[in-house]
Amino acid sequence: ASGKDIKFDIGRDDVDKVTIGDKKVMISGPCSVEDIDTMRLICKRLKEIGIHVLRGGAFKPRTSPYDFQGLGEEGVRILHKVSRENKMPFVTEVMDARHIELIEPYADMLQIGSRNMYNYTLLKEVGKLNVPIILKRGMSATLSEWLLAAEYILKEGNEKVIMCERGIRTFENYTRNTLDLNSVAVIKTKYRLPVIVDPSHGTGLRELVPTMSLSAIATGCDGLIIESHINPDNAISDARQTITVEALKNLNDKIKLMENLL
Ligand code: PEP
Ligand code: MN
Repeated sequence: ASGKDIKFDIGRDDVDKVTIGDKKVMISGPCSVEDIDTMRLICKRLKEIGIHVLRGGAFKPRTSPYDFQGLGEEGVRILHKVSRENKMPFVTEVMDARHIELIEPYADMLQIGSRNMYNYTLLKEVGKLNVPIILKRGMSATLSEWLLAAEYILKEGNEKVIMCERGIRTFENYTRNTLDLNSVAVIKTKYRLPVIVDPSHGTGLRELVPTMSLSAIATGCDGLIIESHINPDNAISDARQTITVEALKNLNDKIKLMENLL
């Protein structure tokens, strides 16, 4: 069967839910939660332009241990506060099974990051939850390894898995990663899981984000997760790939037009 018949809601009862599989789900926000005032401004603007789900990293898997590691629990509290003020669901990354009890009661959706796709203990734990899980592709994972990682979650009973193509490592180094839209086409034609695309980590370059977003929509993905900020150059992490809310609005308007054609 195709992935088209799988649908589920994202969002608890105190926010405006969105159904993945019905329309292109737009998820956006900064790489990291920085402070409450910035997050509140971003969330309000994203809601105004029609974004469905807020993103923000509180527990950050940084390549260097000397880089900002995220606000942790405080970041989750900020996300919860501003998301409820705007009736917007939010997603944040869970890096460690020990953090599930700090995050899961508040978050509308959990993200398993690229670096944790092979963390089978963590996959089994989120498989016992009832919230949707975004499973990012490991940066060197084959499609079949990534699908088997999804099976770890599904097997425990959580059927709300959203695959996220975020680019893979290749010999190419102009872009941060190589965004593999082949994987999206394969999942949409051969498997039943919803799949979204992250053109921010997929390219590493903000000027490529709109083009690759539209390409992903044309490939048939169920939504996008895009890093945005009110002041991208000052973003604490991933500034180079972060777009302005204005650029996101422009892109979102184009996606709505495309959606009516597909
Ligand atoms: C992120 O979404 O900010 C992130 C760290 O992504 P990835 O796990 O795909 O590198
Ligand atoms: Mn990031």
